[in-house]
Amino acid sequence: MGANIQKLYINGRWESKFGQQLAESINPANKEVIGYYASADENQVHQAVESAYSAYSEWKRTPAPARAAYLYKAAEFCAGRKEELAKMMTKEMGKVLPEALGEVNVVIETCKYMAAEGRRLFGETVPSGLPNCDIQMVREPIGVIACITPWNFPIALASYKICAAIVSGNTVVWKPASETALSAGILMEIFQQAGFPAGVINLITGSGSQVGKQLAAHPHVASISFTGSTEVGRGLSIEAARQMKKISMELGGKNAAIVLKDADLTKAADCIVRAAFSTTGQKCTATSRVIVEKEVKQALLNLIVDKTRSLEIGDGMKSGVDIGPLVNERQLSIVHSYVEEALADGAKLECGGKPITDLDGYFYEPTVLSNVSPNQKVANEEIFGPVLAIVEAEDYEEAININNQTVYGLSTSLFTESLHYAKRGARDIESGLVYINNGTANAEIGVAFGGLKQSGNGSREVSHHVLDSMTEWKSIYVSY
Ligand code: NAP
Ligand code: MG
Repeated sequence: MGANIQKLYINGRWESKFGQQLAESINPANKEVIGYYASADENQVHQAVESAYSAYSEWKRTPAPARAAYLYKAAEFCAGRKEELAKMMTKEMGKVLPEALGEVNVVIETCKYMAAEGRRLFGETVPSGLPNCDIQMVREPIGVIACITPWNFPIALASYKICAAIVSGNTVVWKPASETALSAGILMEIFQQAGFPAGVINLITGSGSQVGKQLAAHPHVASISFTGSTEVGRGLSIEAARQMKKISMELGGKNAAIVLKDADLTKAADCIVRAAFSTTGQKCTATSRVIVEKEVKQALLNLIVDKTRSLEIGDGMKSGVDIGPLVNERQLSIVHSYVEEALADGAKLECGGKPITDLDGYFYEPTVLSNVSPNQKVANEEIFGPVLAIVEAEDYEEAININNQTVYGLSTSLFTESLHYAKRGARDIESGLVYINNGTANAEIGVAFGGLKQSGNGSREVSHHVLDSMTEWKSIYVSY
């Protein structure tokens, strides 16, 4: 067996038995096989959950600052393997190396931020109506948490979940996306280096519809923390309801940038192009629609098209490249069919619009469509690719209505120089993240992250608010 075989990590050791065939991990920039990953069989999924379940009682009683100490160590080891980890992500899913390095930084910061929670995890005291009685409310861990994560941020989104789960006293079974199993393996090695006791964090790979599904349904999994598509999130929520499992769901989006006629158009175009096309548009917070007041539509469009045409496309390992490939062939064909359907429905192609055939990988031209009506599919469905739809609005009110009409509510930008419209927009926009004069994809550590409507189930990640989905409240009355 060669070096690049991603094994399962169960109960503190790497599994050497592979019951089922190994699956290939492909570099989307050149279609080369970069390694293989194991598919957990039913028994291995069960063992992973049982190992987390047995580790739970001791881990839960380990003092929180001691639990946090492992996360500080993980941050150090992660910093030491930054290049290696970033390069693996670029090869495995295609994002350009500077973005991948940025993602490793997010993991390091998340480890430290959540480690600091080990000295907080604050509870509350409440005055009692009885004489000689103390009332205390404390956060209790939940148990085994199944962390199921997507490929677009192979390690950052996992760190949001795992670090929060661990510091609050839960144990974890992590099922990463198949597309990025090898990147997940490196992060698991880092957690191993940090010295977590056996069973506290386990890694199982394999297809979502089998391994992920079985994991989520296991009776010893107390809570499911999922980031991915709304469709899969809905199925997991239904399954969780049968067993009354706790859930946290970070799902899809159809994010817009609203540009009012008084906006700084150069700044708006800059932010829009970056948020639309970085990570090849494969971000849950990518700008996918521009809703612009009609008076400035043409001026904004010219700026956006110029900037889009200047983007350098290629293998994300090469310096100077702005945009890498799509993650796989399937995604490439989905993106292209959205564009073809939009054009057939009357949209106008401003730039891009087809796969790039003189490169070996799954590359697609960054695409701008104008003349898009608010009801068209391309203006309402998540595409997850480098496609930007420009929709015209009569005025502020119409722009807000168009923004709010989709089933999603993750992230919205509003560009205006007016305090009046900035404040109204912050109030009227139905999104969990609102950016005034900035791009839709600029999340910061320490700030609650999550979406309204079908972009989530109300849970939040990243800030201390993530603790609400990783703990339950226990109220303790002491009469003396
Ligand atoms: P996905 O297809 O929903 O998959 C996400 C994860 O769930 C993967 O690990 C997948 O495994 C697993 N999975 C698939 N079917 C499953 C099932 N029936 N039961 C249990 N697990 C299952 O999403 P994706 O294509 O990886 O990621 C793109 C989506 O994620 C987009 O919709 C995007 O908006 C969303 N996203 C949301 C956020 C946020 O914070 N709101 C952040 C990033 C991405 P396999 O890989 O083996 O299929
Ligand atoms: Mg791949």
